[in-house]
Amino acid sequence: MTEEESGTPHWLFGDQLGPHFVDPARGGPHRDAPLLMIEARSVFRRRRFHRAKAHLILSAMRHRAAELGDRVRYVKSDTYRQGLREAVGDAPVTVHHPTSHAALAFVRALPSVRVLPARGFLVTHDAFRNWADDRGTKHLRQEDFYRWVRQTHDLLMDGDRPAGGQWNLDHENRQPPPRGATGLGVPAPYRPRESGIDAEVRSDLDRWSRDGDVEFVGEDAPRGFPATRREALAALRRFVEHRLATFGAHEDAVLAADATMSHSLLSSSLNLGLLDPAECVERAEARWRSGGVPLNSAEGFVRQIAGWREFVWHVYWYFGPRYRAGNALRHHERLPGWFAELSSDATEANCLAHVLAQVRATGWTHHIPRLMILGSFALQRGWEPQAVTDWFHRSFVDGYDWVMVPNVVGMSQYADGGRMTTKPYTSGGAYIDRMSDLCGPCRYKPSVRVGEDACPFTAGYWNLLHRHRDRFERNARMIRAVRGLDRLPDLEELLEQERDRRD
Ligand SMILES: Cc1cc2nc3c(=O)[nH]c(=O)nc-3n(C[C@H](O)[C@H](O)[C@H](O)COP(=O)(O)OP(=O)(O)OC[C@H]3O[C@@H](n4cnc5c(N)ncnc54)[C@H](O)[C@@H]3O)c2cc1C
Ligand code: SF4
Repeated sequence: MTEEESGTPHWLFGDQLGPHFVDPARGGPHRDAPLLMIEARSVFRRRRFHRAKAHLILSAMRHRAAELGDRVRYVKSDTYRQGLREAVGDAPVTVHHPTSHAALAFVRALPSVRVLPARGFLVTHDAFRNWADDRGTKHLRQEDFYRWVRQTHDLLMDGDRPAGGQWNLDHENRQPPPRGATGLGVPAPYRPRESGIDAEVRSDLDRWSRDGDVEFVGEDAPRGFPATRREALAALRRFVEHRLATFGAHEDAVLAADATMSHSLLSSSLNLGLLDPAECVERAEARWRSGGVPLNSAEGFVRQIAGWREFVWHVYWYFGPRYRAGNALRHHERLPGWFAELSSDATEANCLAHVLAQVRATGWTHHIPRLMILGSFALQRGWEPQAVTDWFHRSFVDGYDWVMVPNVVGMSQYADGGRMTTKPYTSGGAYIDRMSDLCGPCRYKPSVRVGEDACPFTAGYWNLLHRHRDRFERNARMIRAVRGLDRLPDLEELLEQERDRRD
């Protein structure tokens, strides 16, 4: 009789909440194995999380415990170690591979804990390692990985060819917002209704903060993201049926009055383990095959999940725990207090103020504001990448170590020196102006780089290129941009202006 068959307790972390984490047919615990969940207060003390994030995680854990009923022992303790001791003492426990280096090291160091394979991703660690080792290079590219996943998982394929004949439909998916529009005019995303469990969570969080035990940033508001499998499935269904069709074309566009555009808002459900990525991409593909959505939208969405999400997960493990400490550009500036506090009033840059206010209110904004406004600003100001990673981790409802480290250290801050992306993701105000309606009401002008009206992104962009000219000149994808510095008659003035910039 195996350990699982004998009913060894199985520990569920707070981001292992879906049925695929307790499925014996997929390497999970025996169907009668008692389950254990630990709500450790120290997790919330360690970082100043967004209030909405703390609420969502606790609500999701407590909802799951309520569903599992007598099968689960739910322990509220100070630390995981204490919770485990209280629940099982030194008795054996199984757990699925956790999602951070710190948590993995912790469970591996406990002799009574046996770690089962990871769940919640399409590709196994071994398969990725083989793929990456076969490349024989320290630079890994998402596009190559994505094509390999499409082939090996038979996703959007017609035989051995990509459906529609092309792997990449990004050229159809990078359109600016429709001219003159204030919104995409698509049905709103699913929003859950709060339950009695949410009321208890709210009262606990209020008490913790009142007692000075735990501090939060951001606003408390009705829970905006699914906390149960049922809610997450409703959100997925609504997205695939009503919003996927328009996902592709304006995927990168930003409109002030339409925060969600046609995005899925499924990241927090996927990262809590309420949804399995396979079911998300399969439903999107089925919708395309039945003629319900255009290929560019289905492909764009499949790329986000089977490409980017998977790639980011594996990069996190493949590059190891030291990857997070990367600082190739030697950026050491501290994050200003107003940014850390999500104080949108402190900056006159309309795009930044708008996005900070959105994050403060909801703990979420879509990919382009994360990358091309928040992350790009941090990169241009030379803020320390680890502090930026920590800020993103704390401030977003979907932030977890595995997803933040590659997205911030690699993709957004270029702190890994290009191991994950071919060039830094940053731009001047012209890009933000083209892709959004945020520049019109701004007191700065995106085309101006020096003087009273100088756009901080435009000036910041040139300043960054100048600072790292030597390195960027060696990058084929950056040479043209760097050479643009030689055509700036007012470069000295710009550099002086940026030295004194406060916001
Ligand atoms: C600086 C920065 C920080 C980010 N931090 C996070 C984070 O903490 N958690 C997180 O889940 N995503 C993060 N992302 C990726 C992406 O921005 C969010 O997944 C997405 O905006 C969530 O909204 P959505 O569910 O509507 O996504 P959609 O636009 O609808 O995309 C569908 C799904 O694809 C997945 N996805 C797409 N891009 C990525 C990516 N780069 N990495 C991982 N998954 C991806 C997500 O699961 C998402 O739900 C970050 C991106 C950047 C540039
Ligand atoms: S002008 Fe510059 S600072 Fe103002 S909204 Fe546009 S990009 Fe942002």
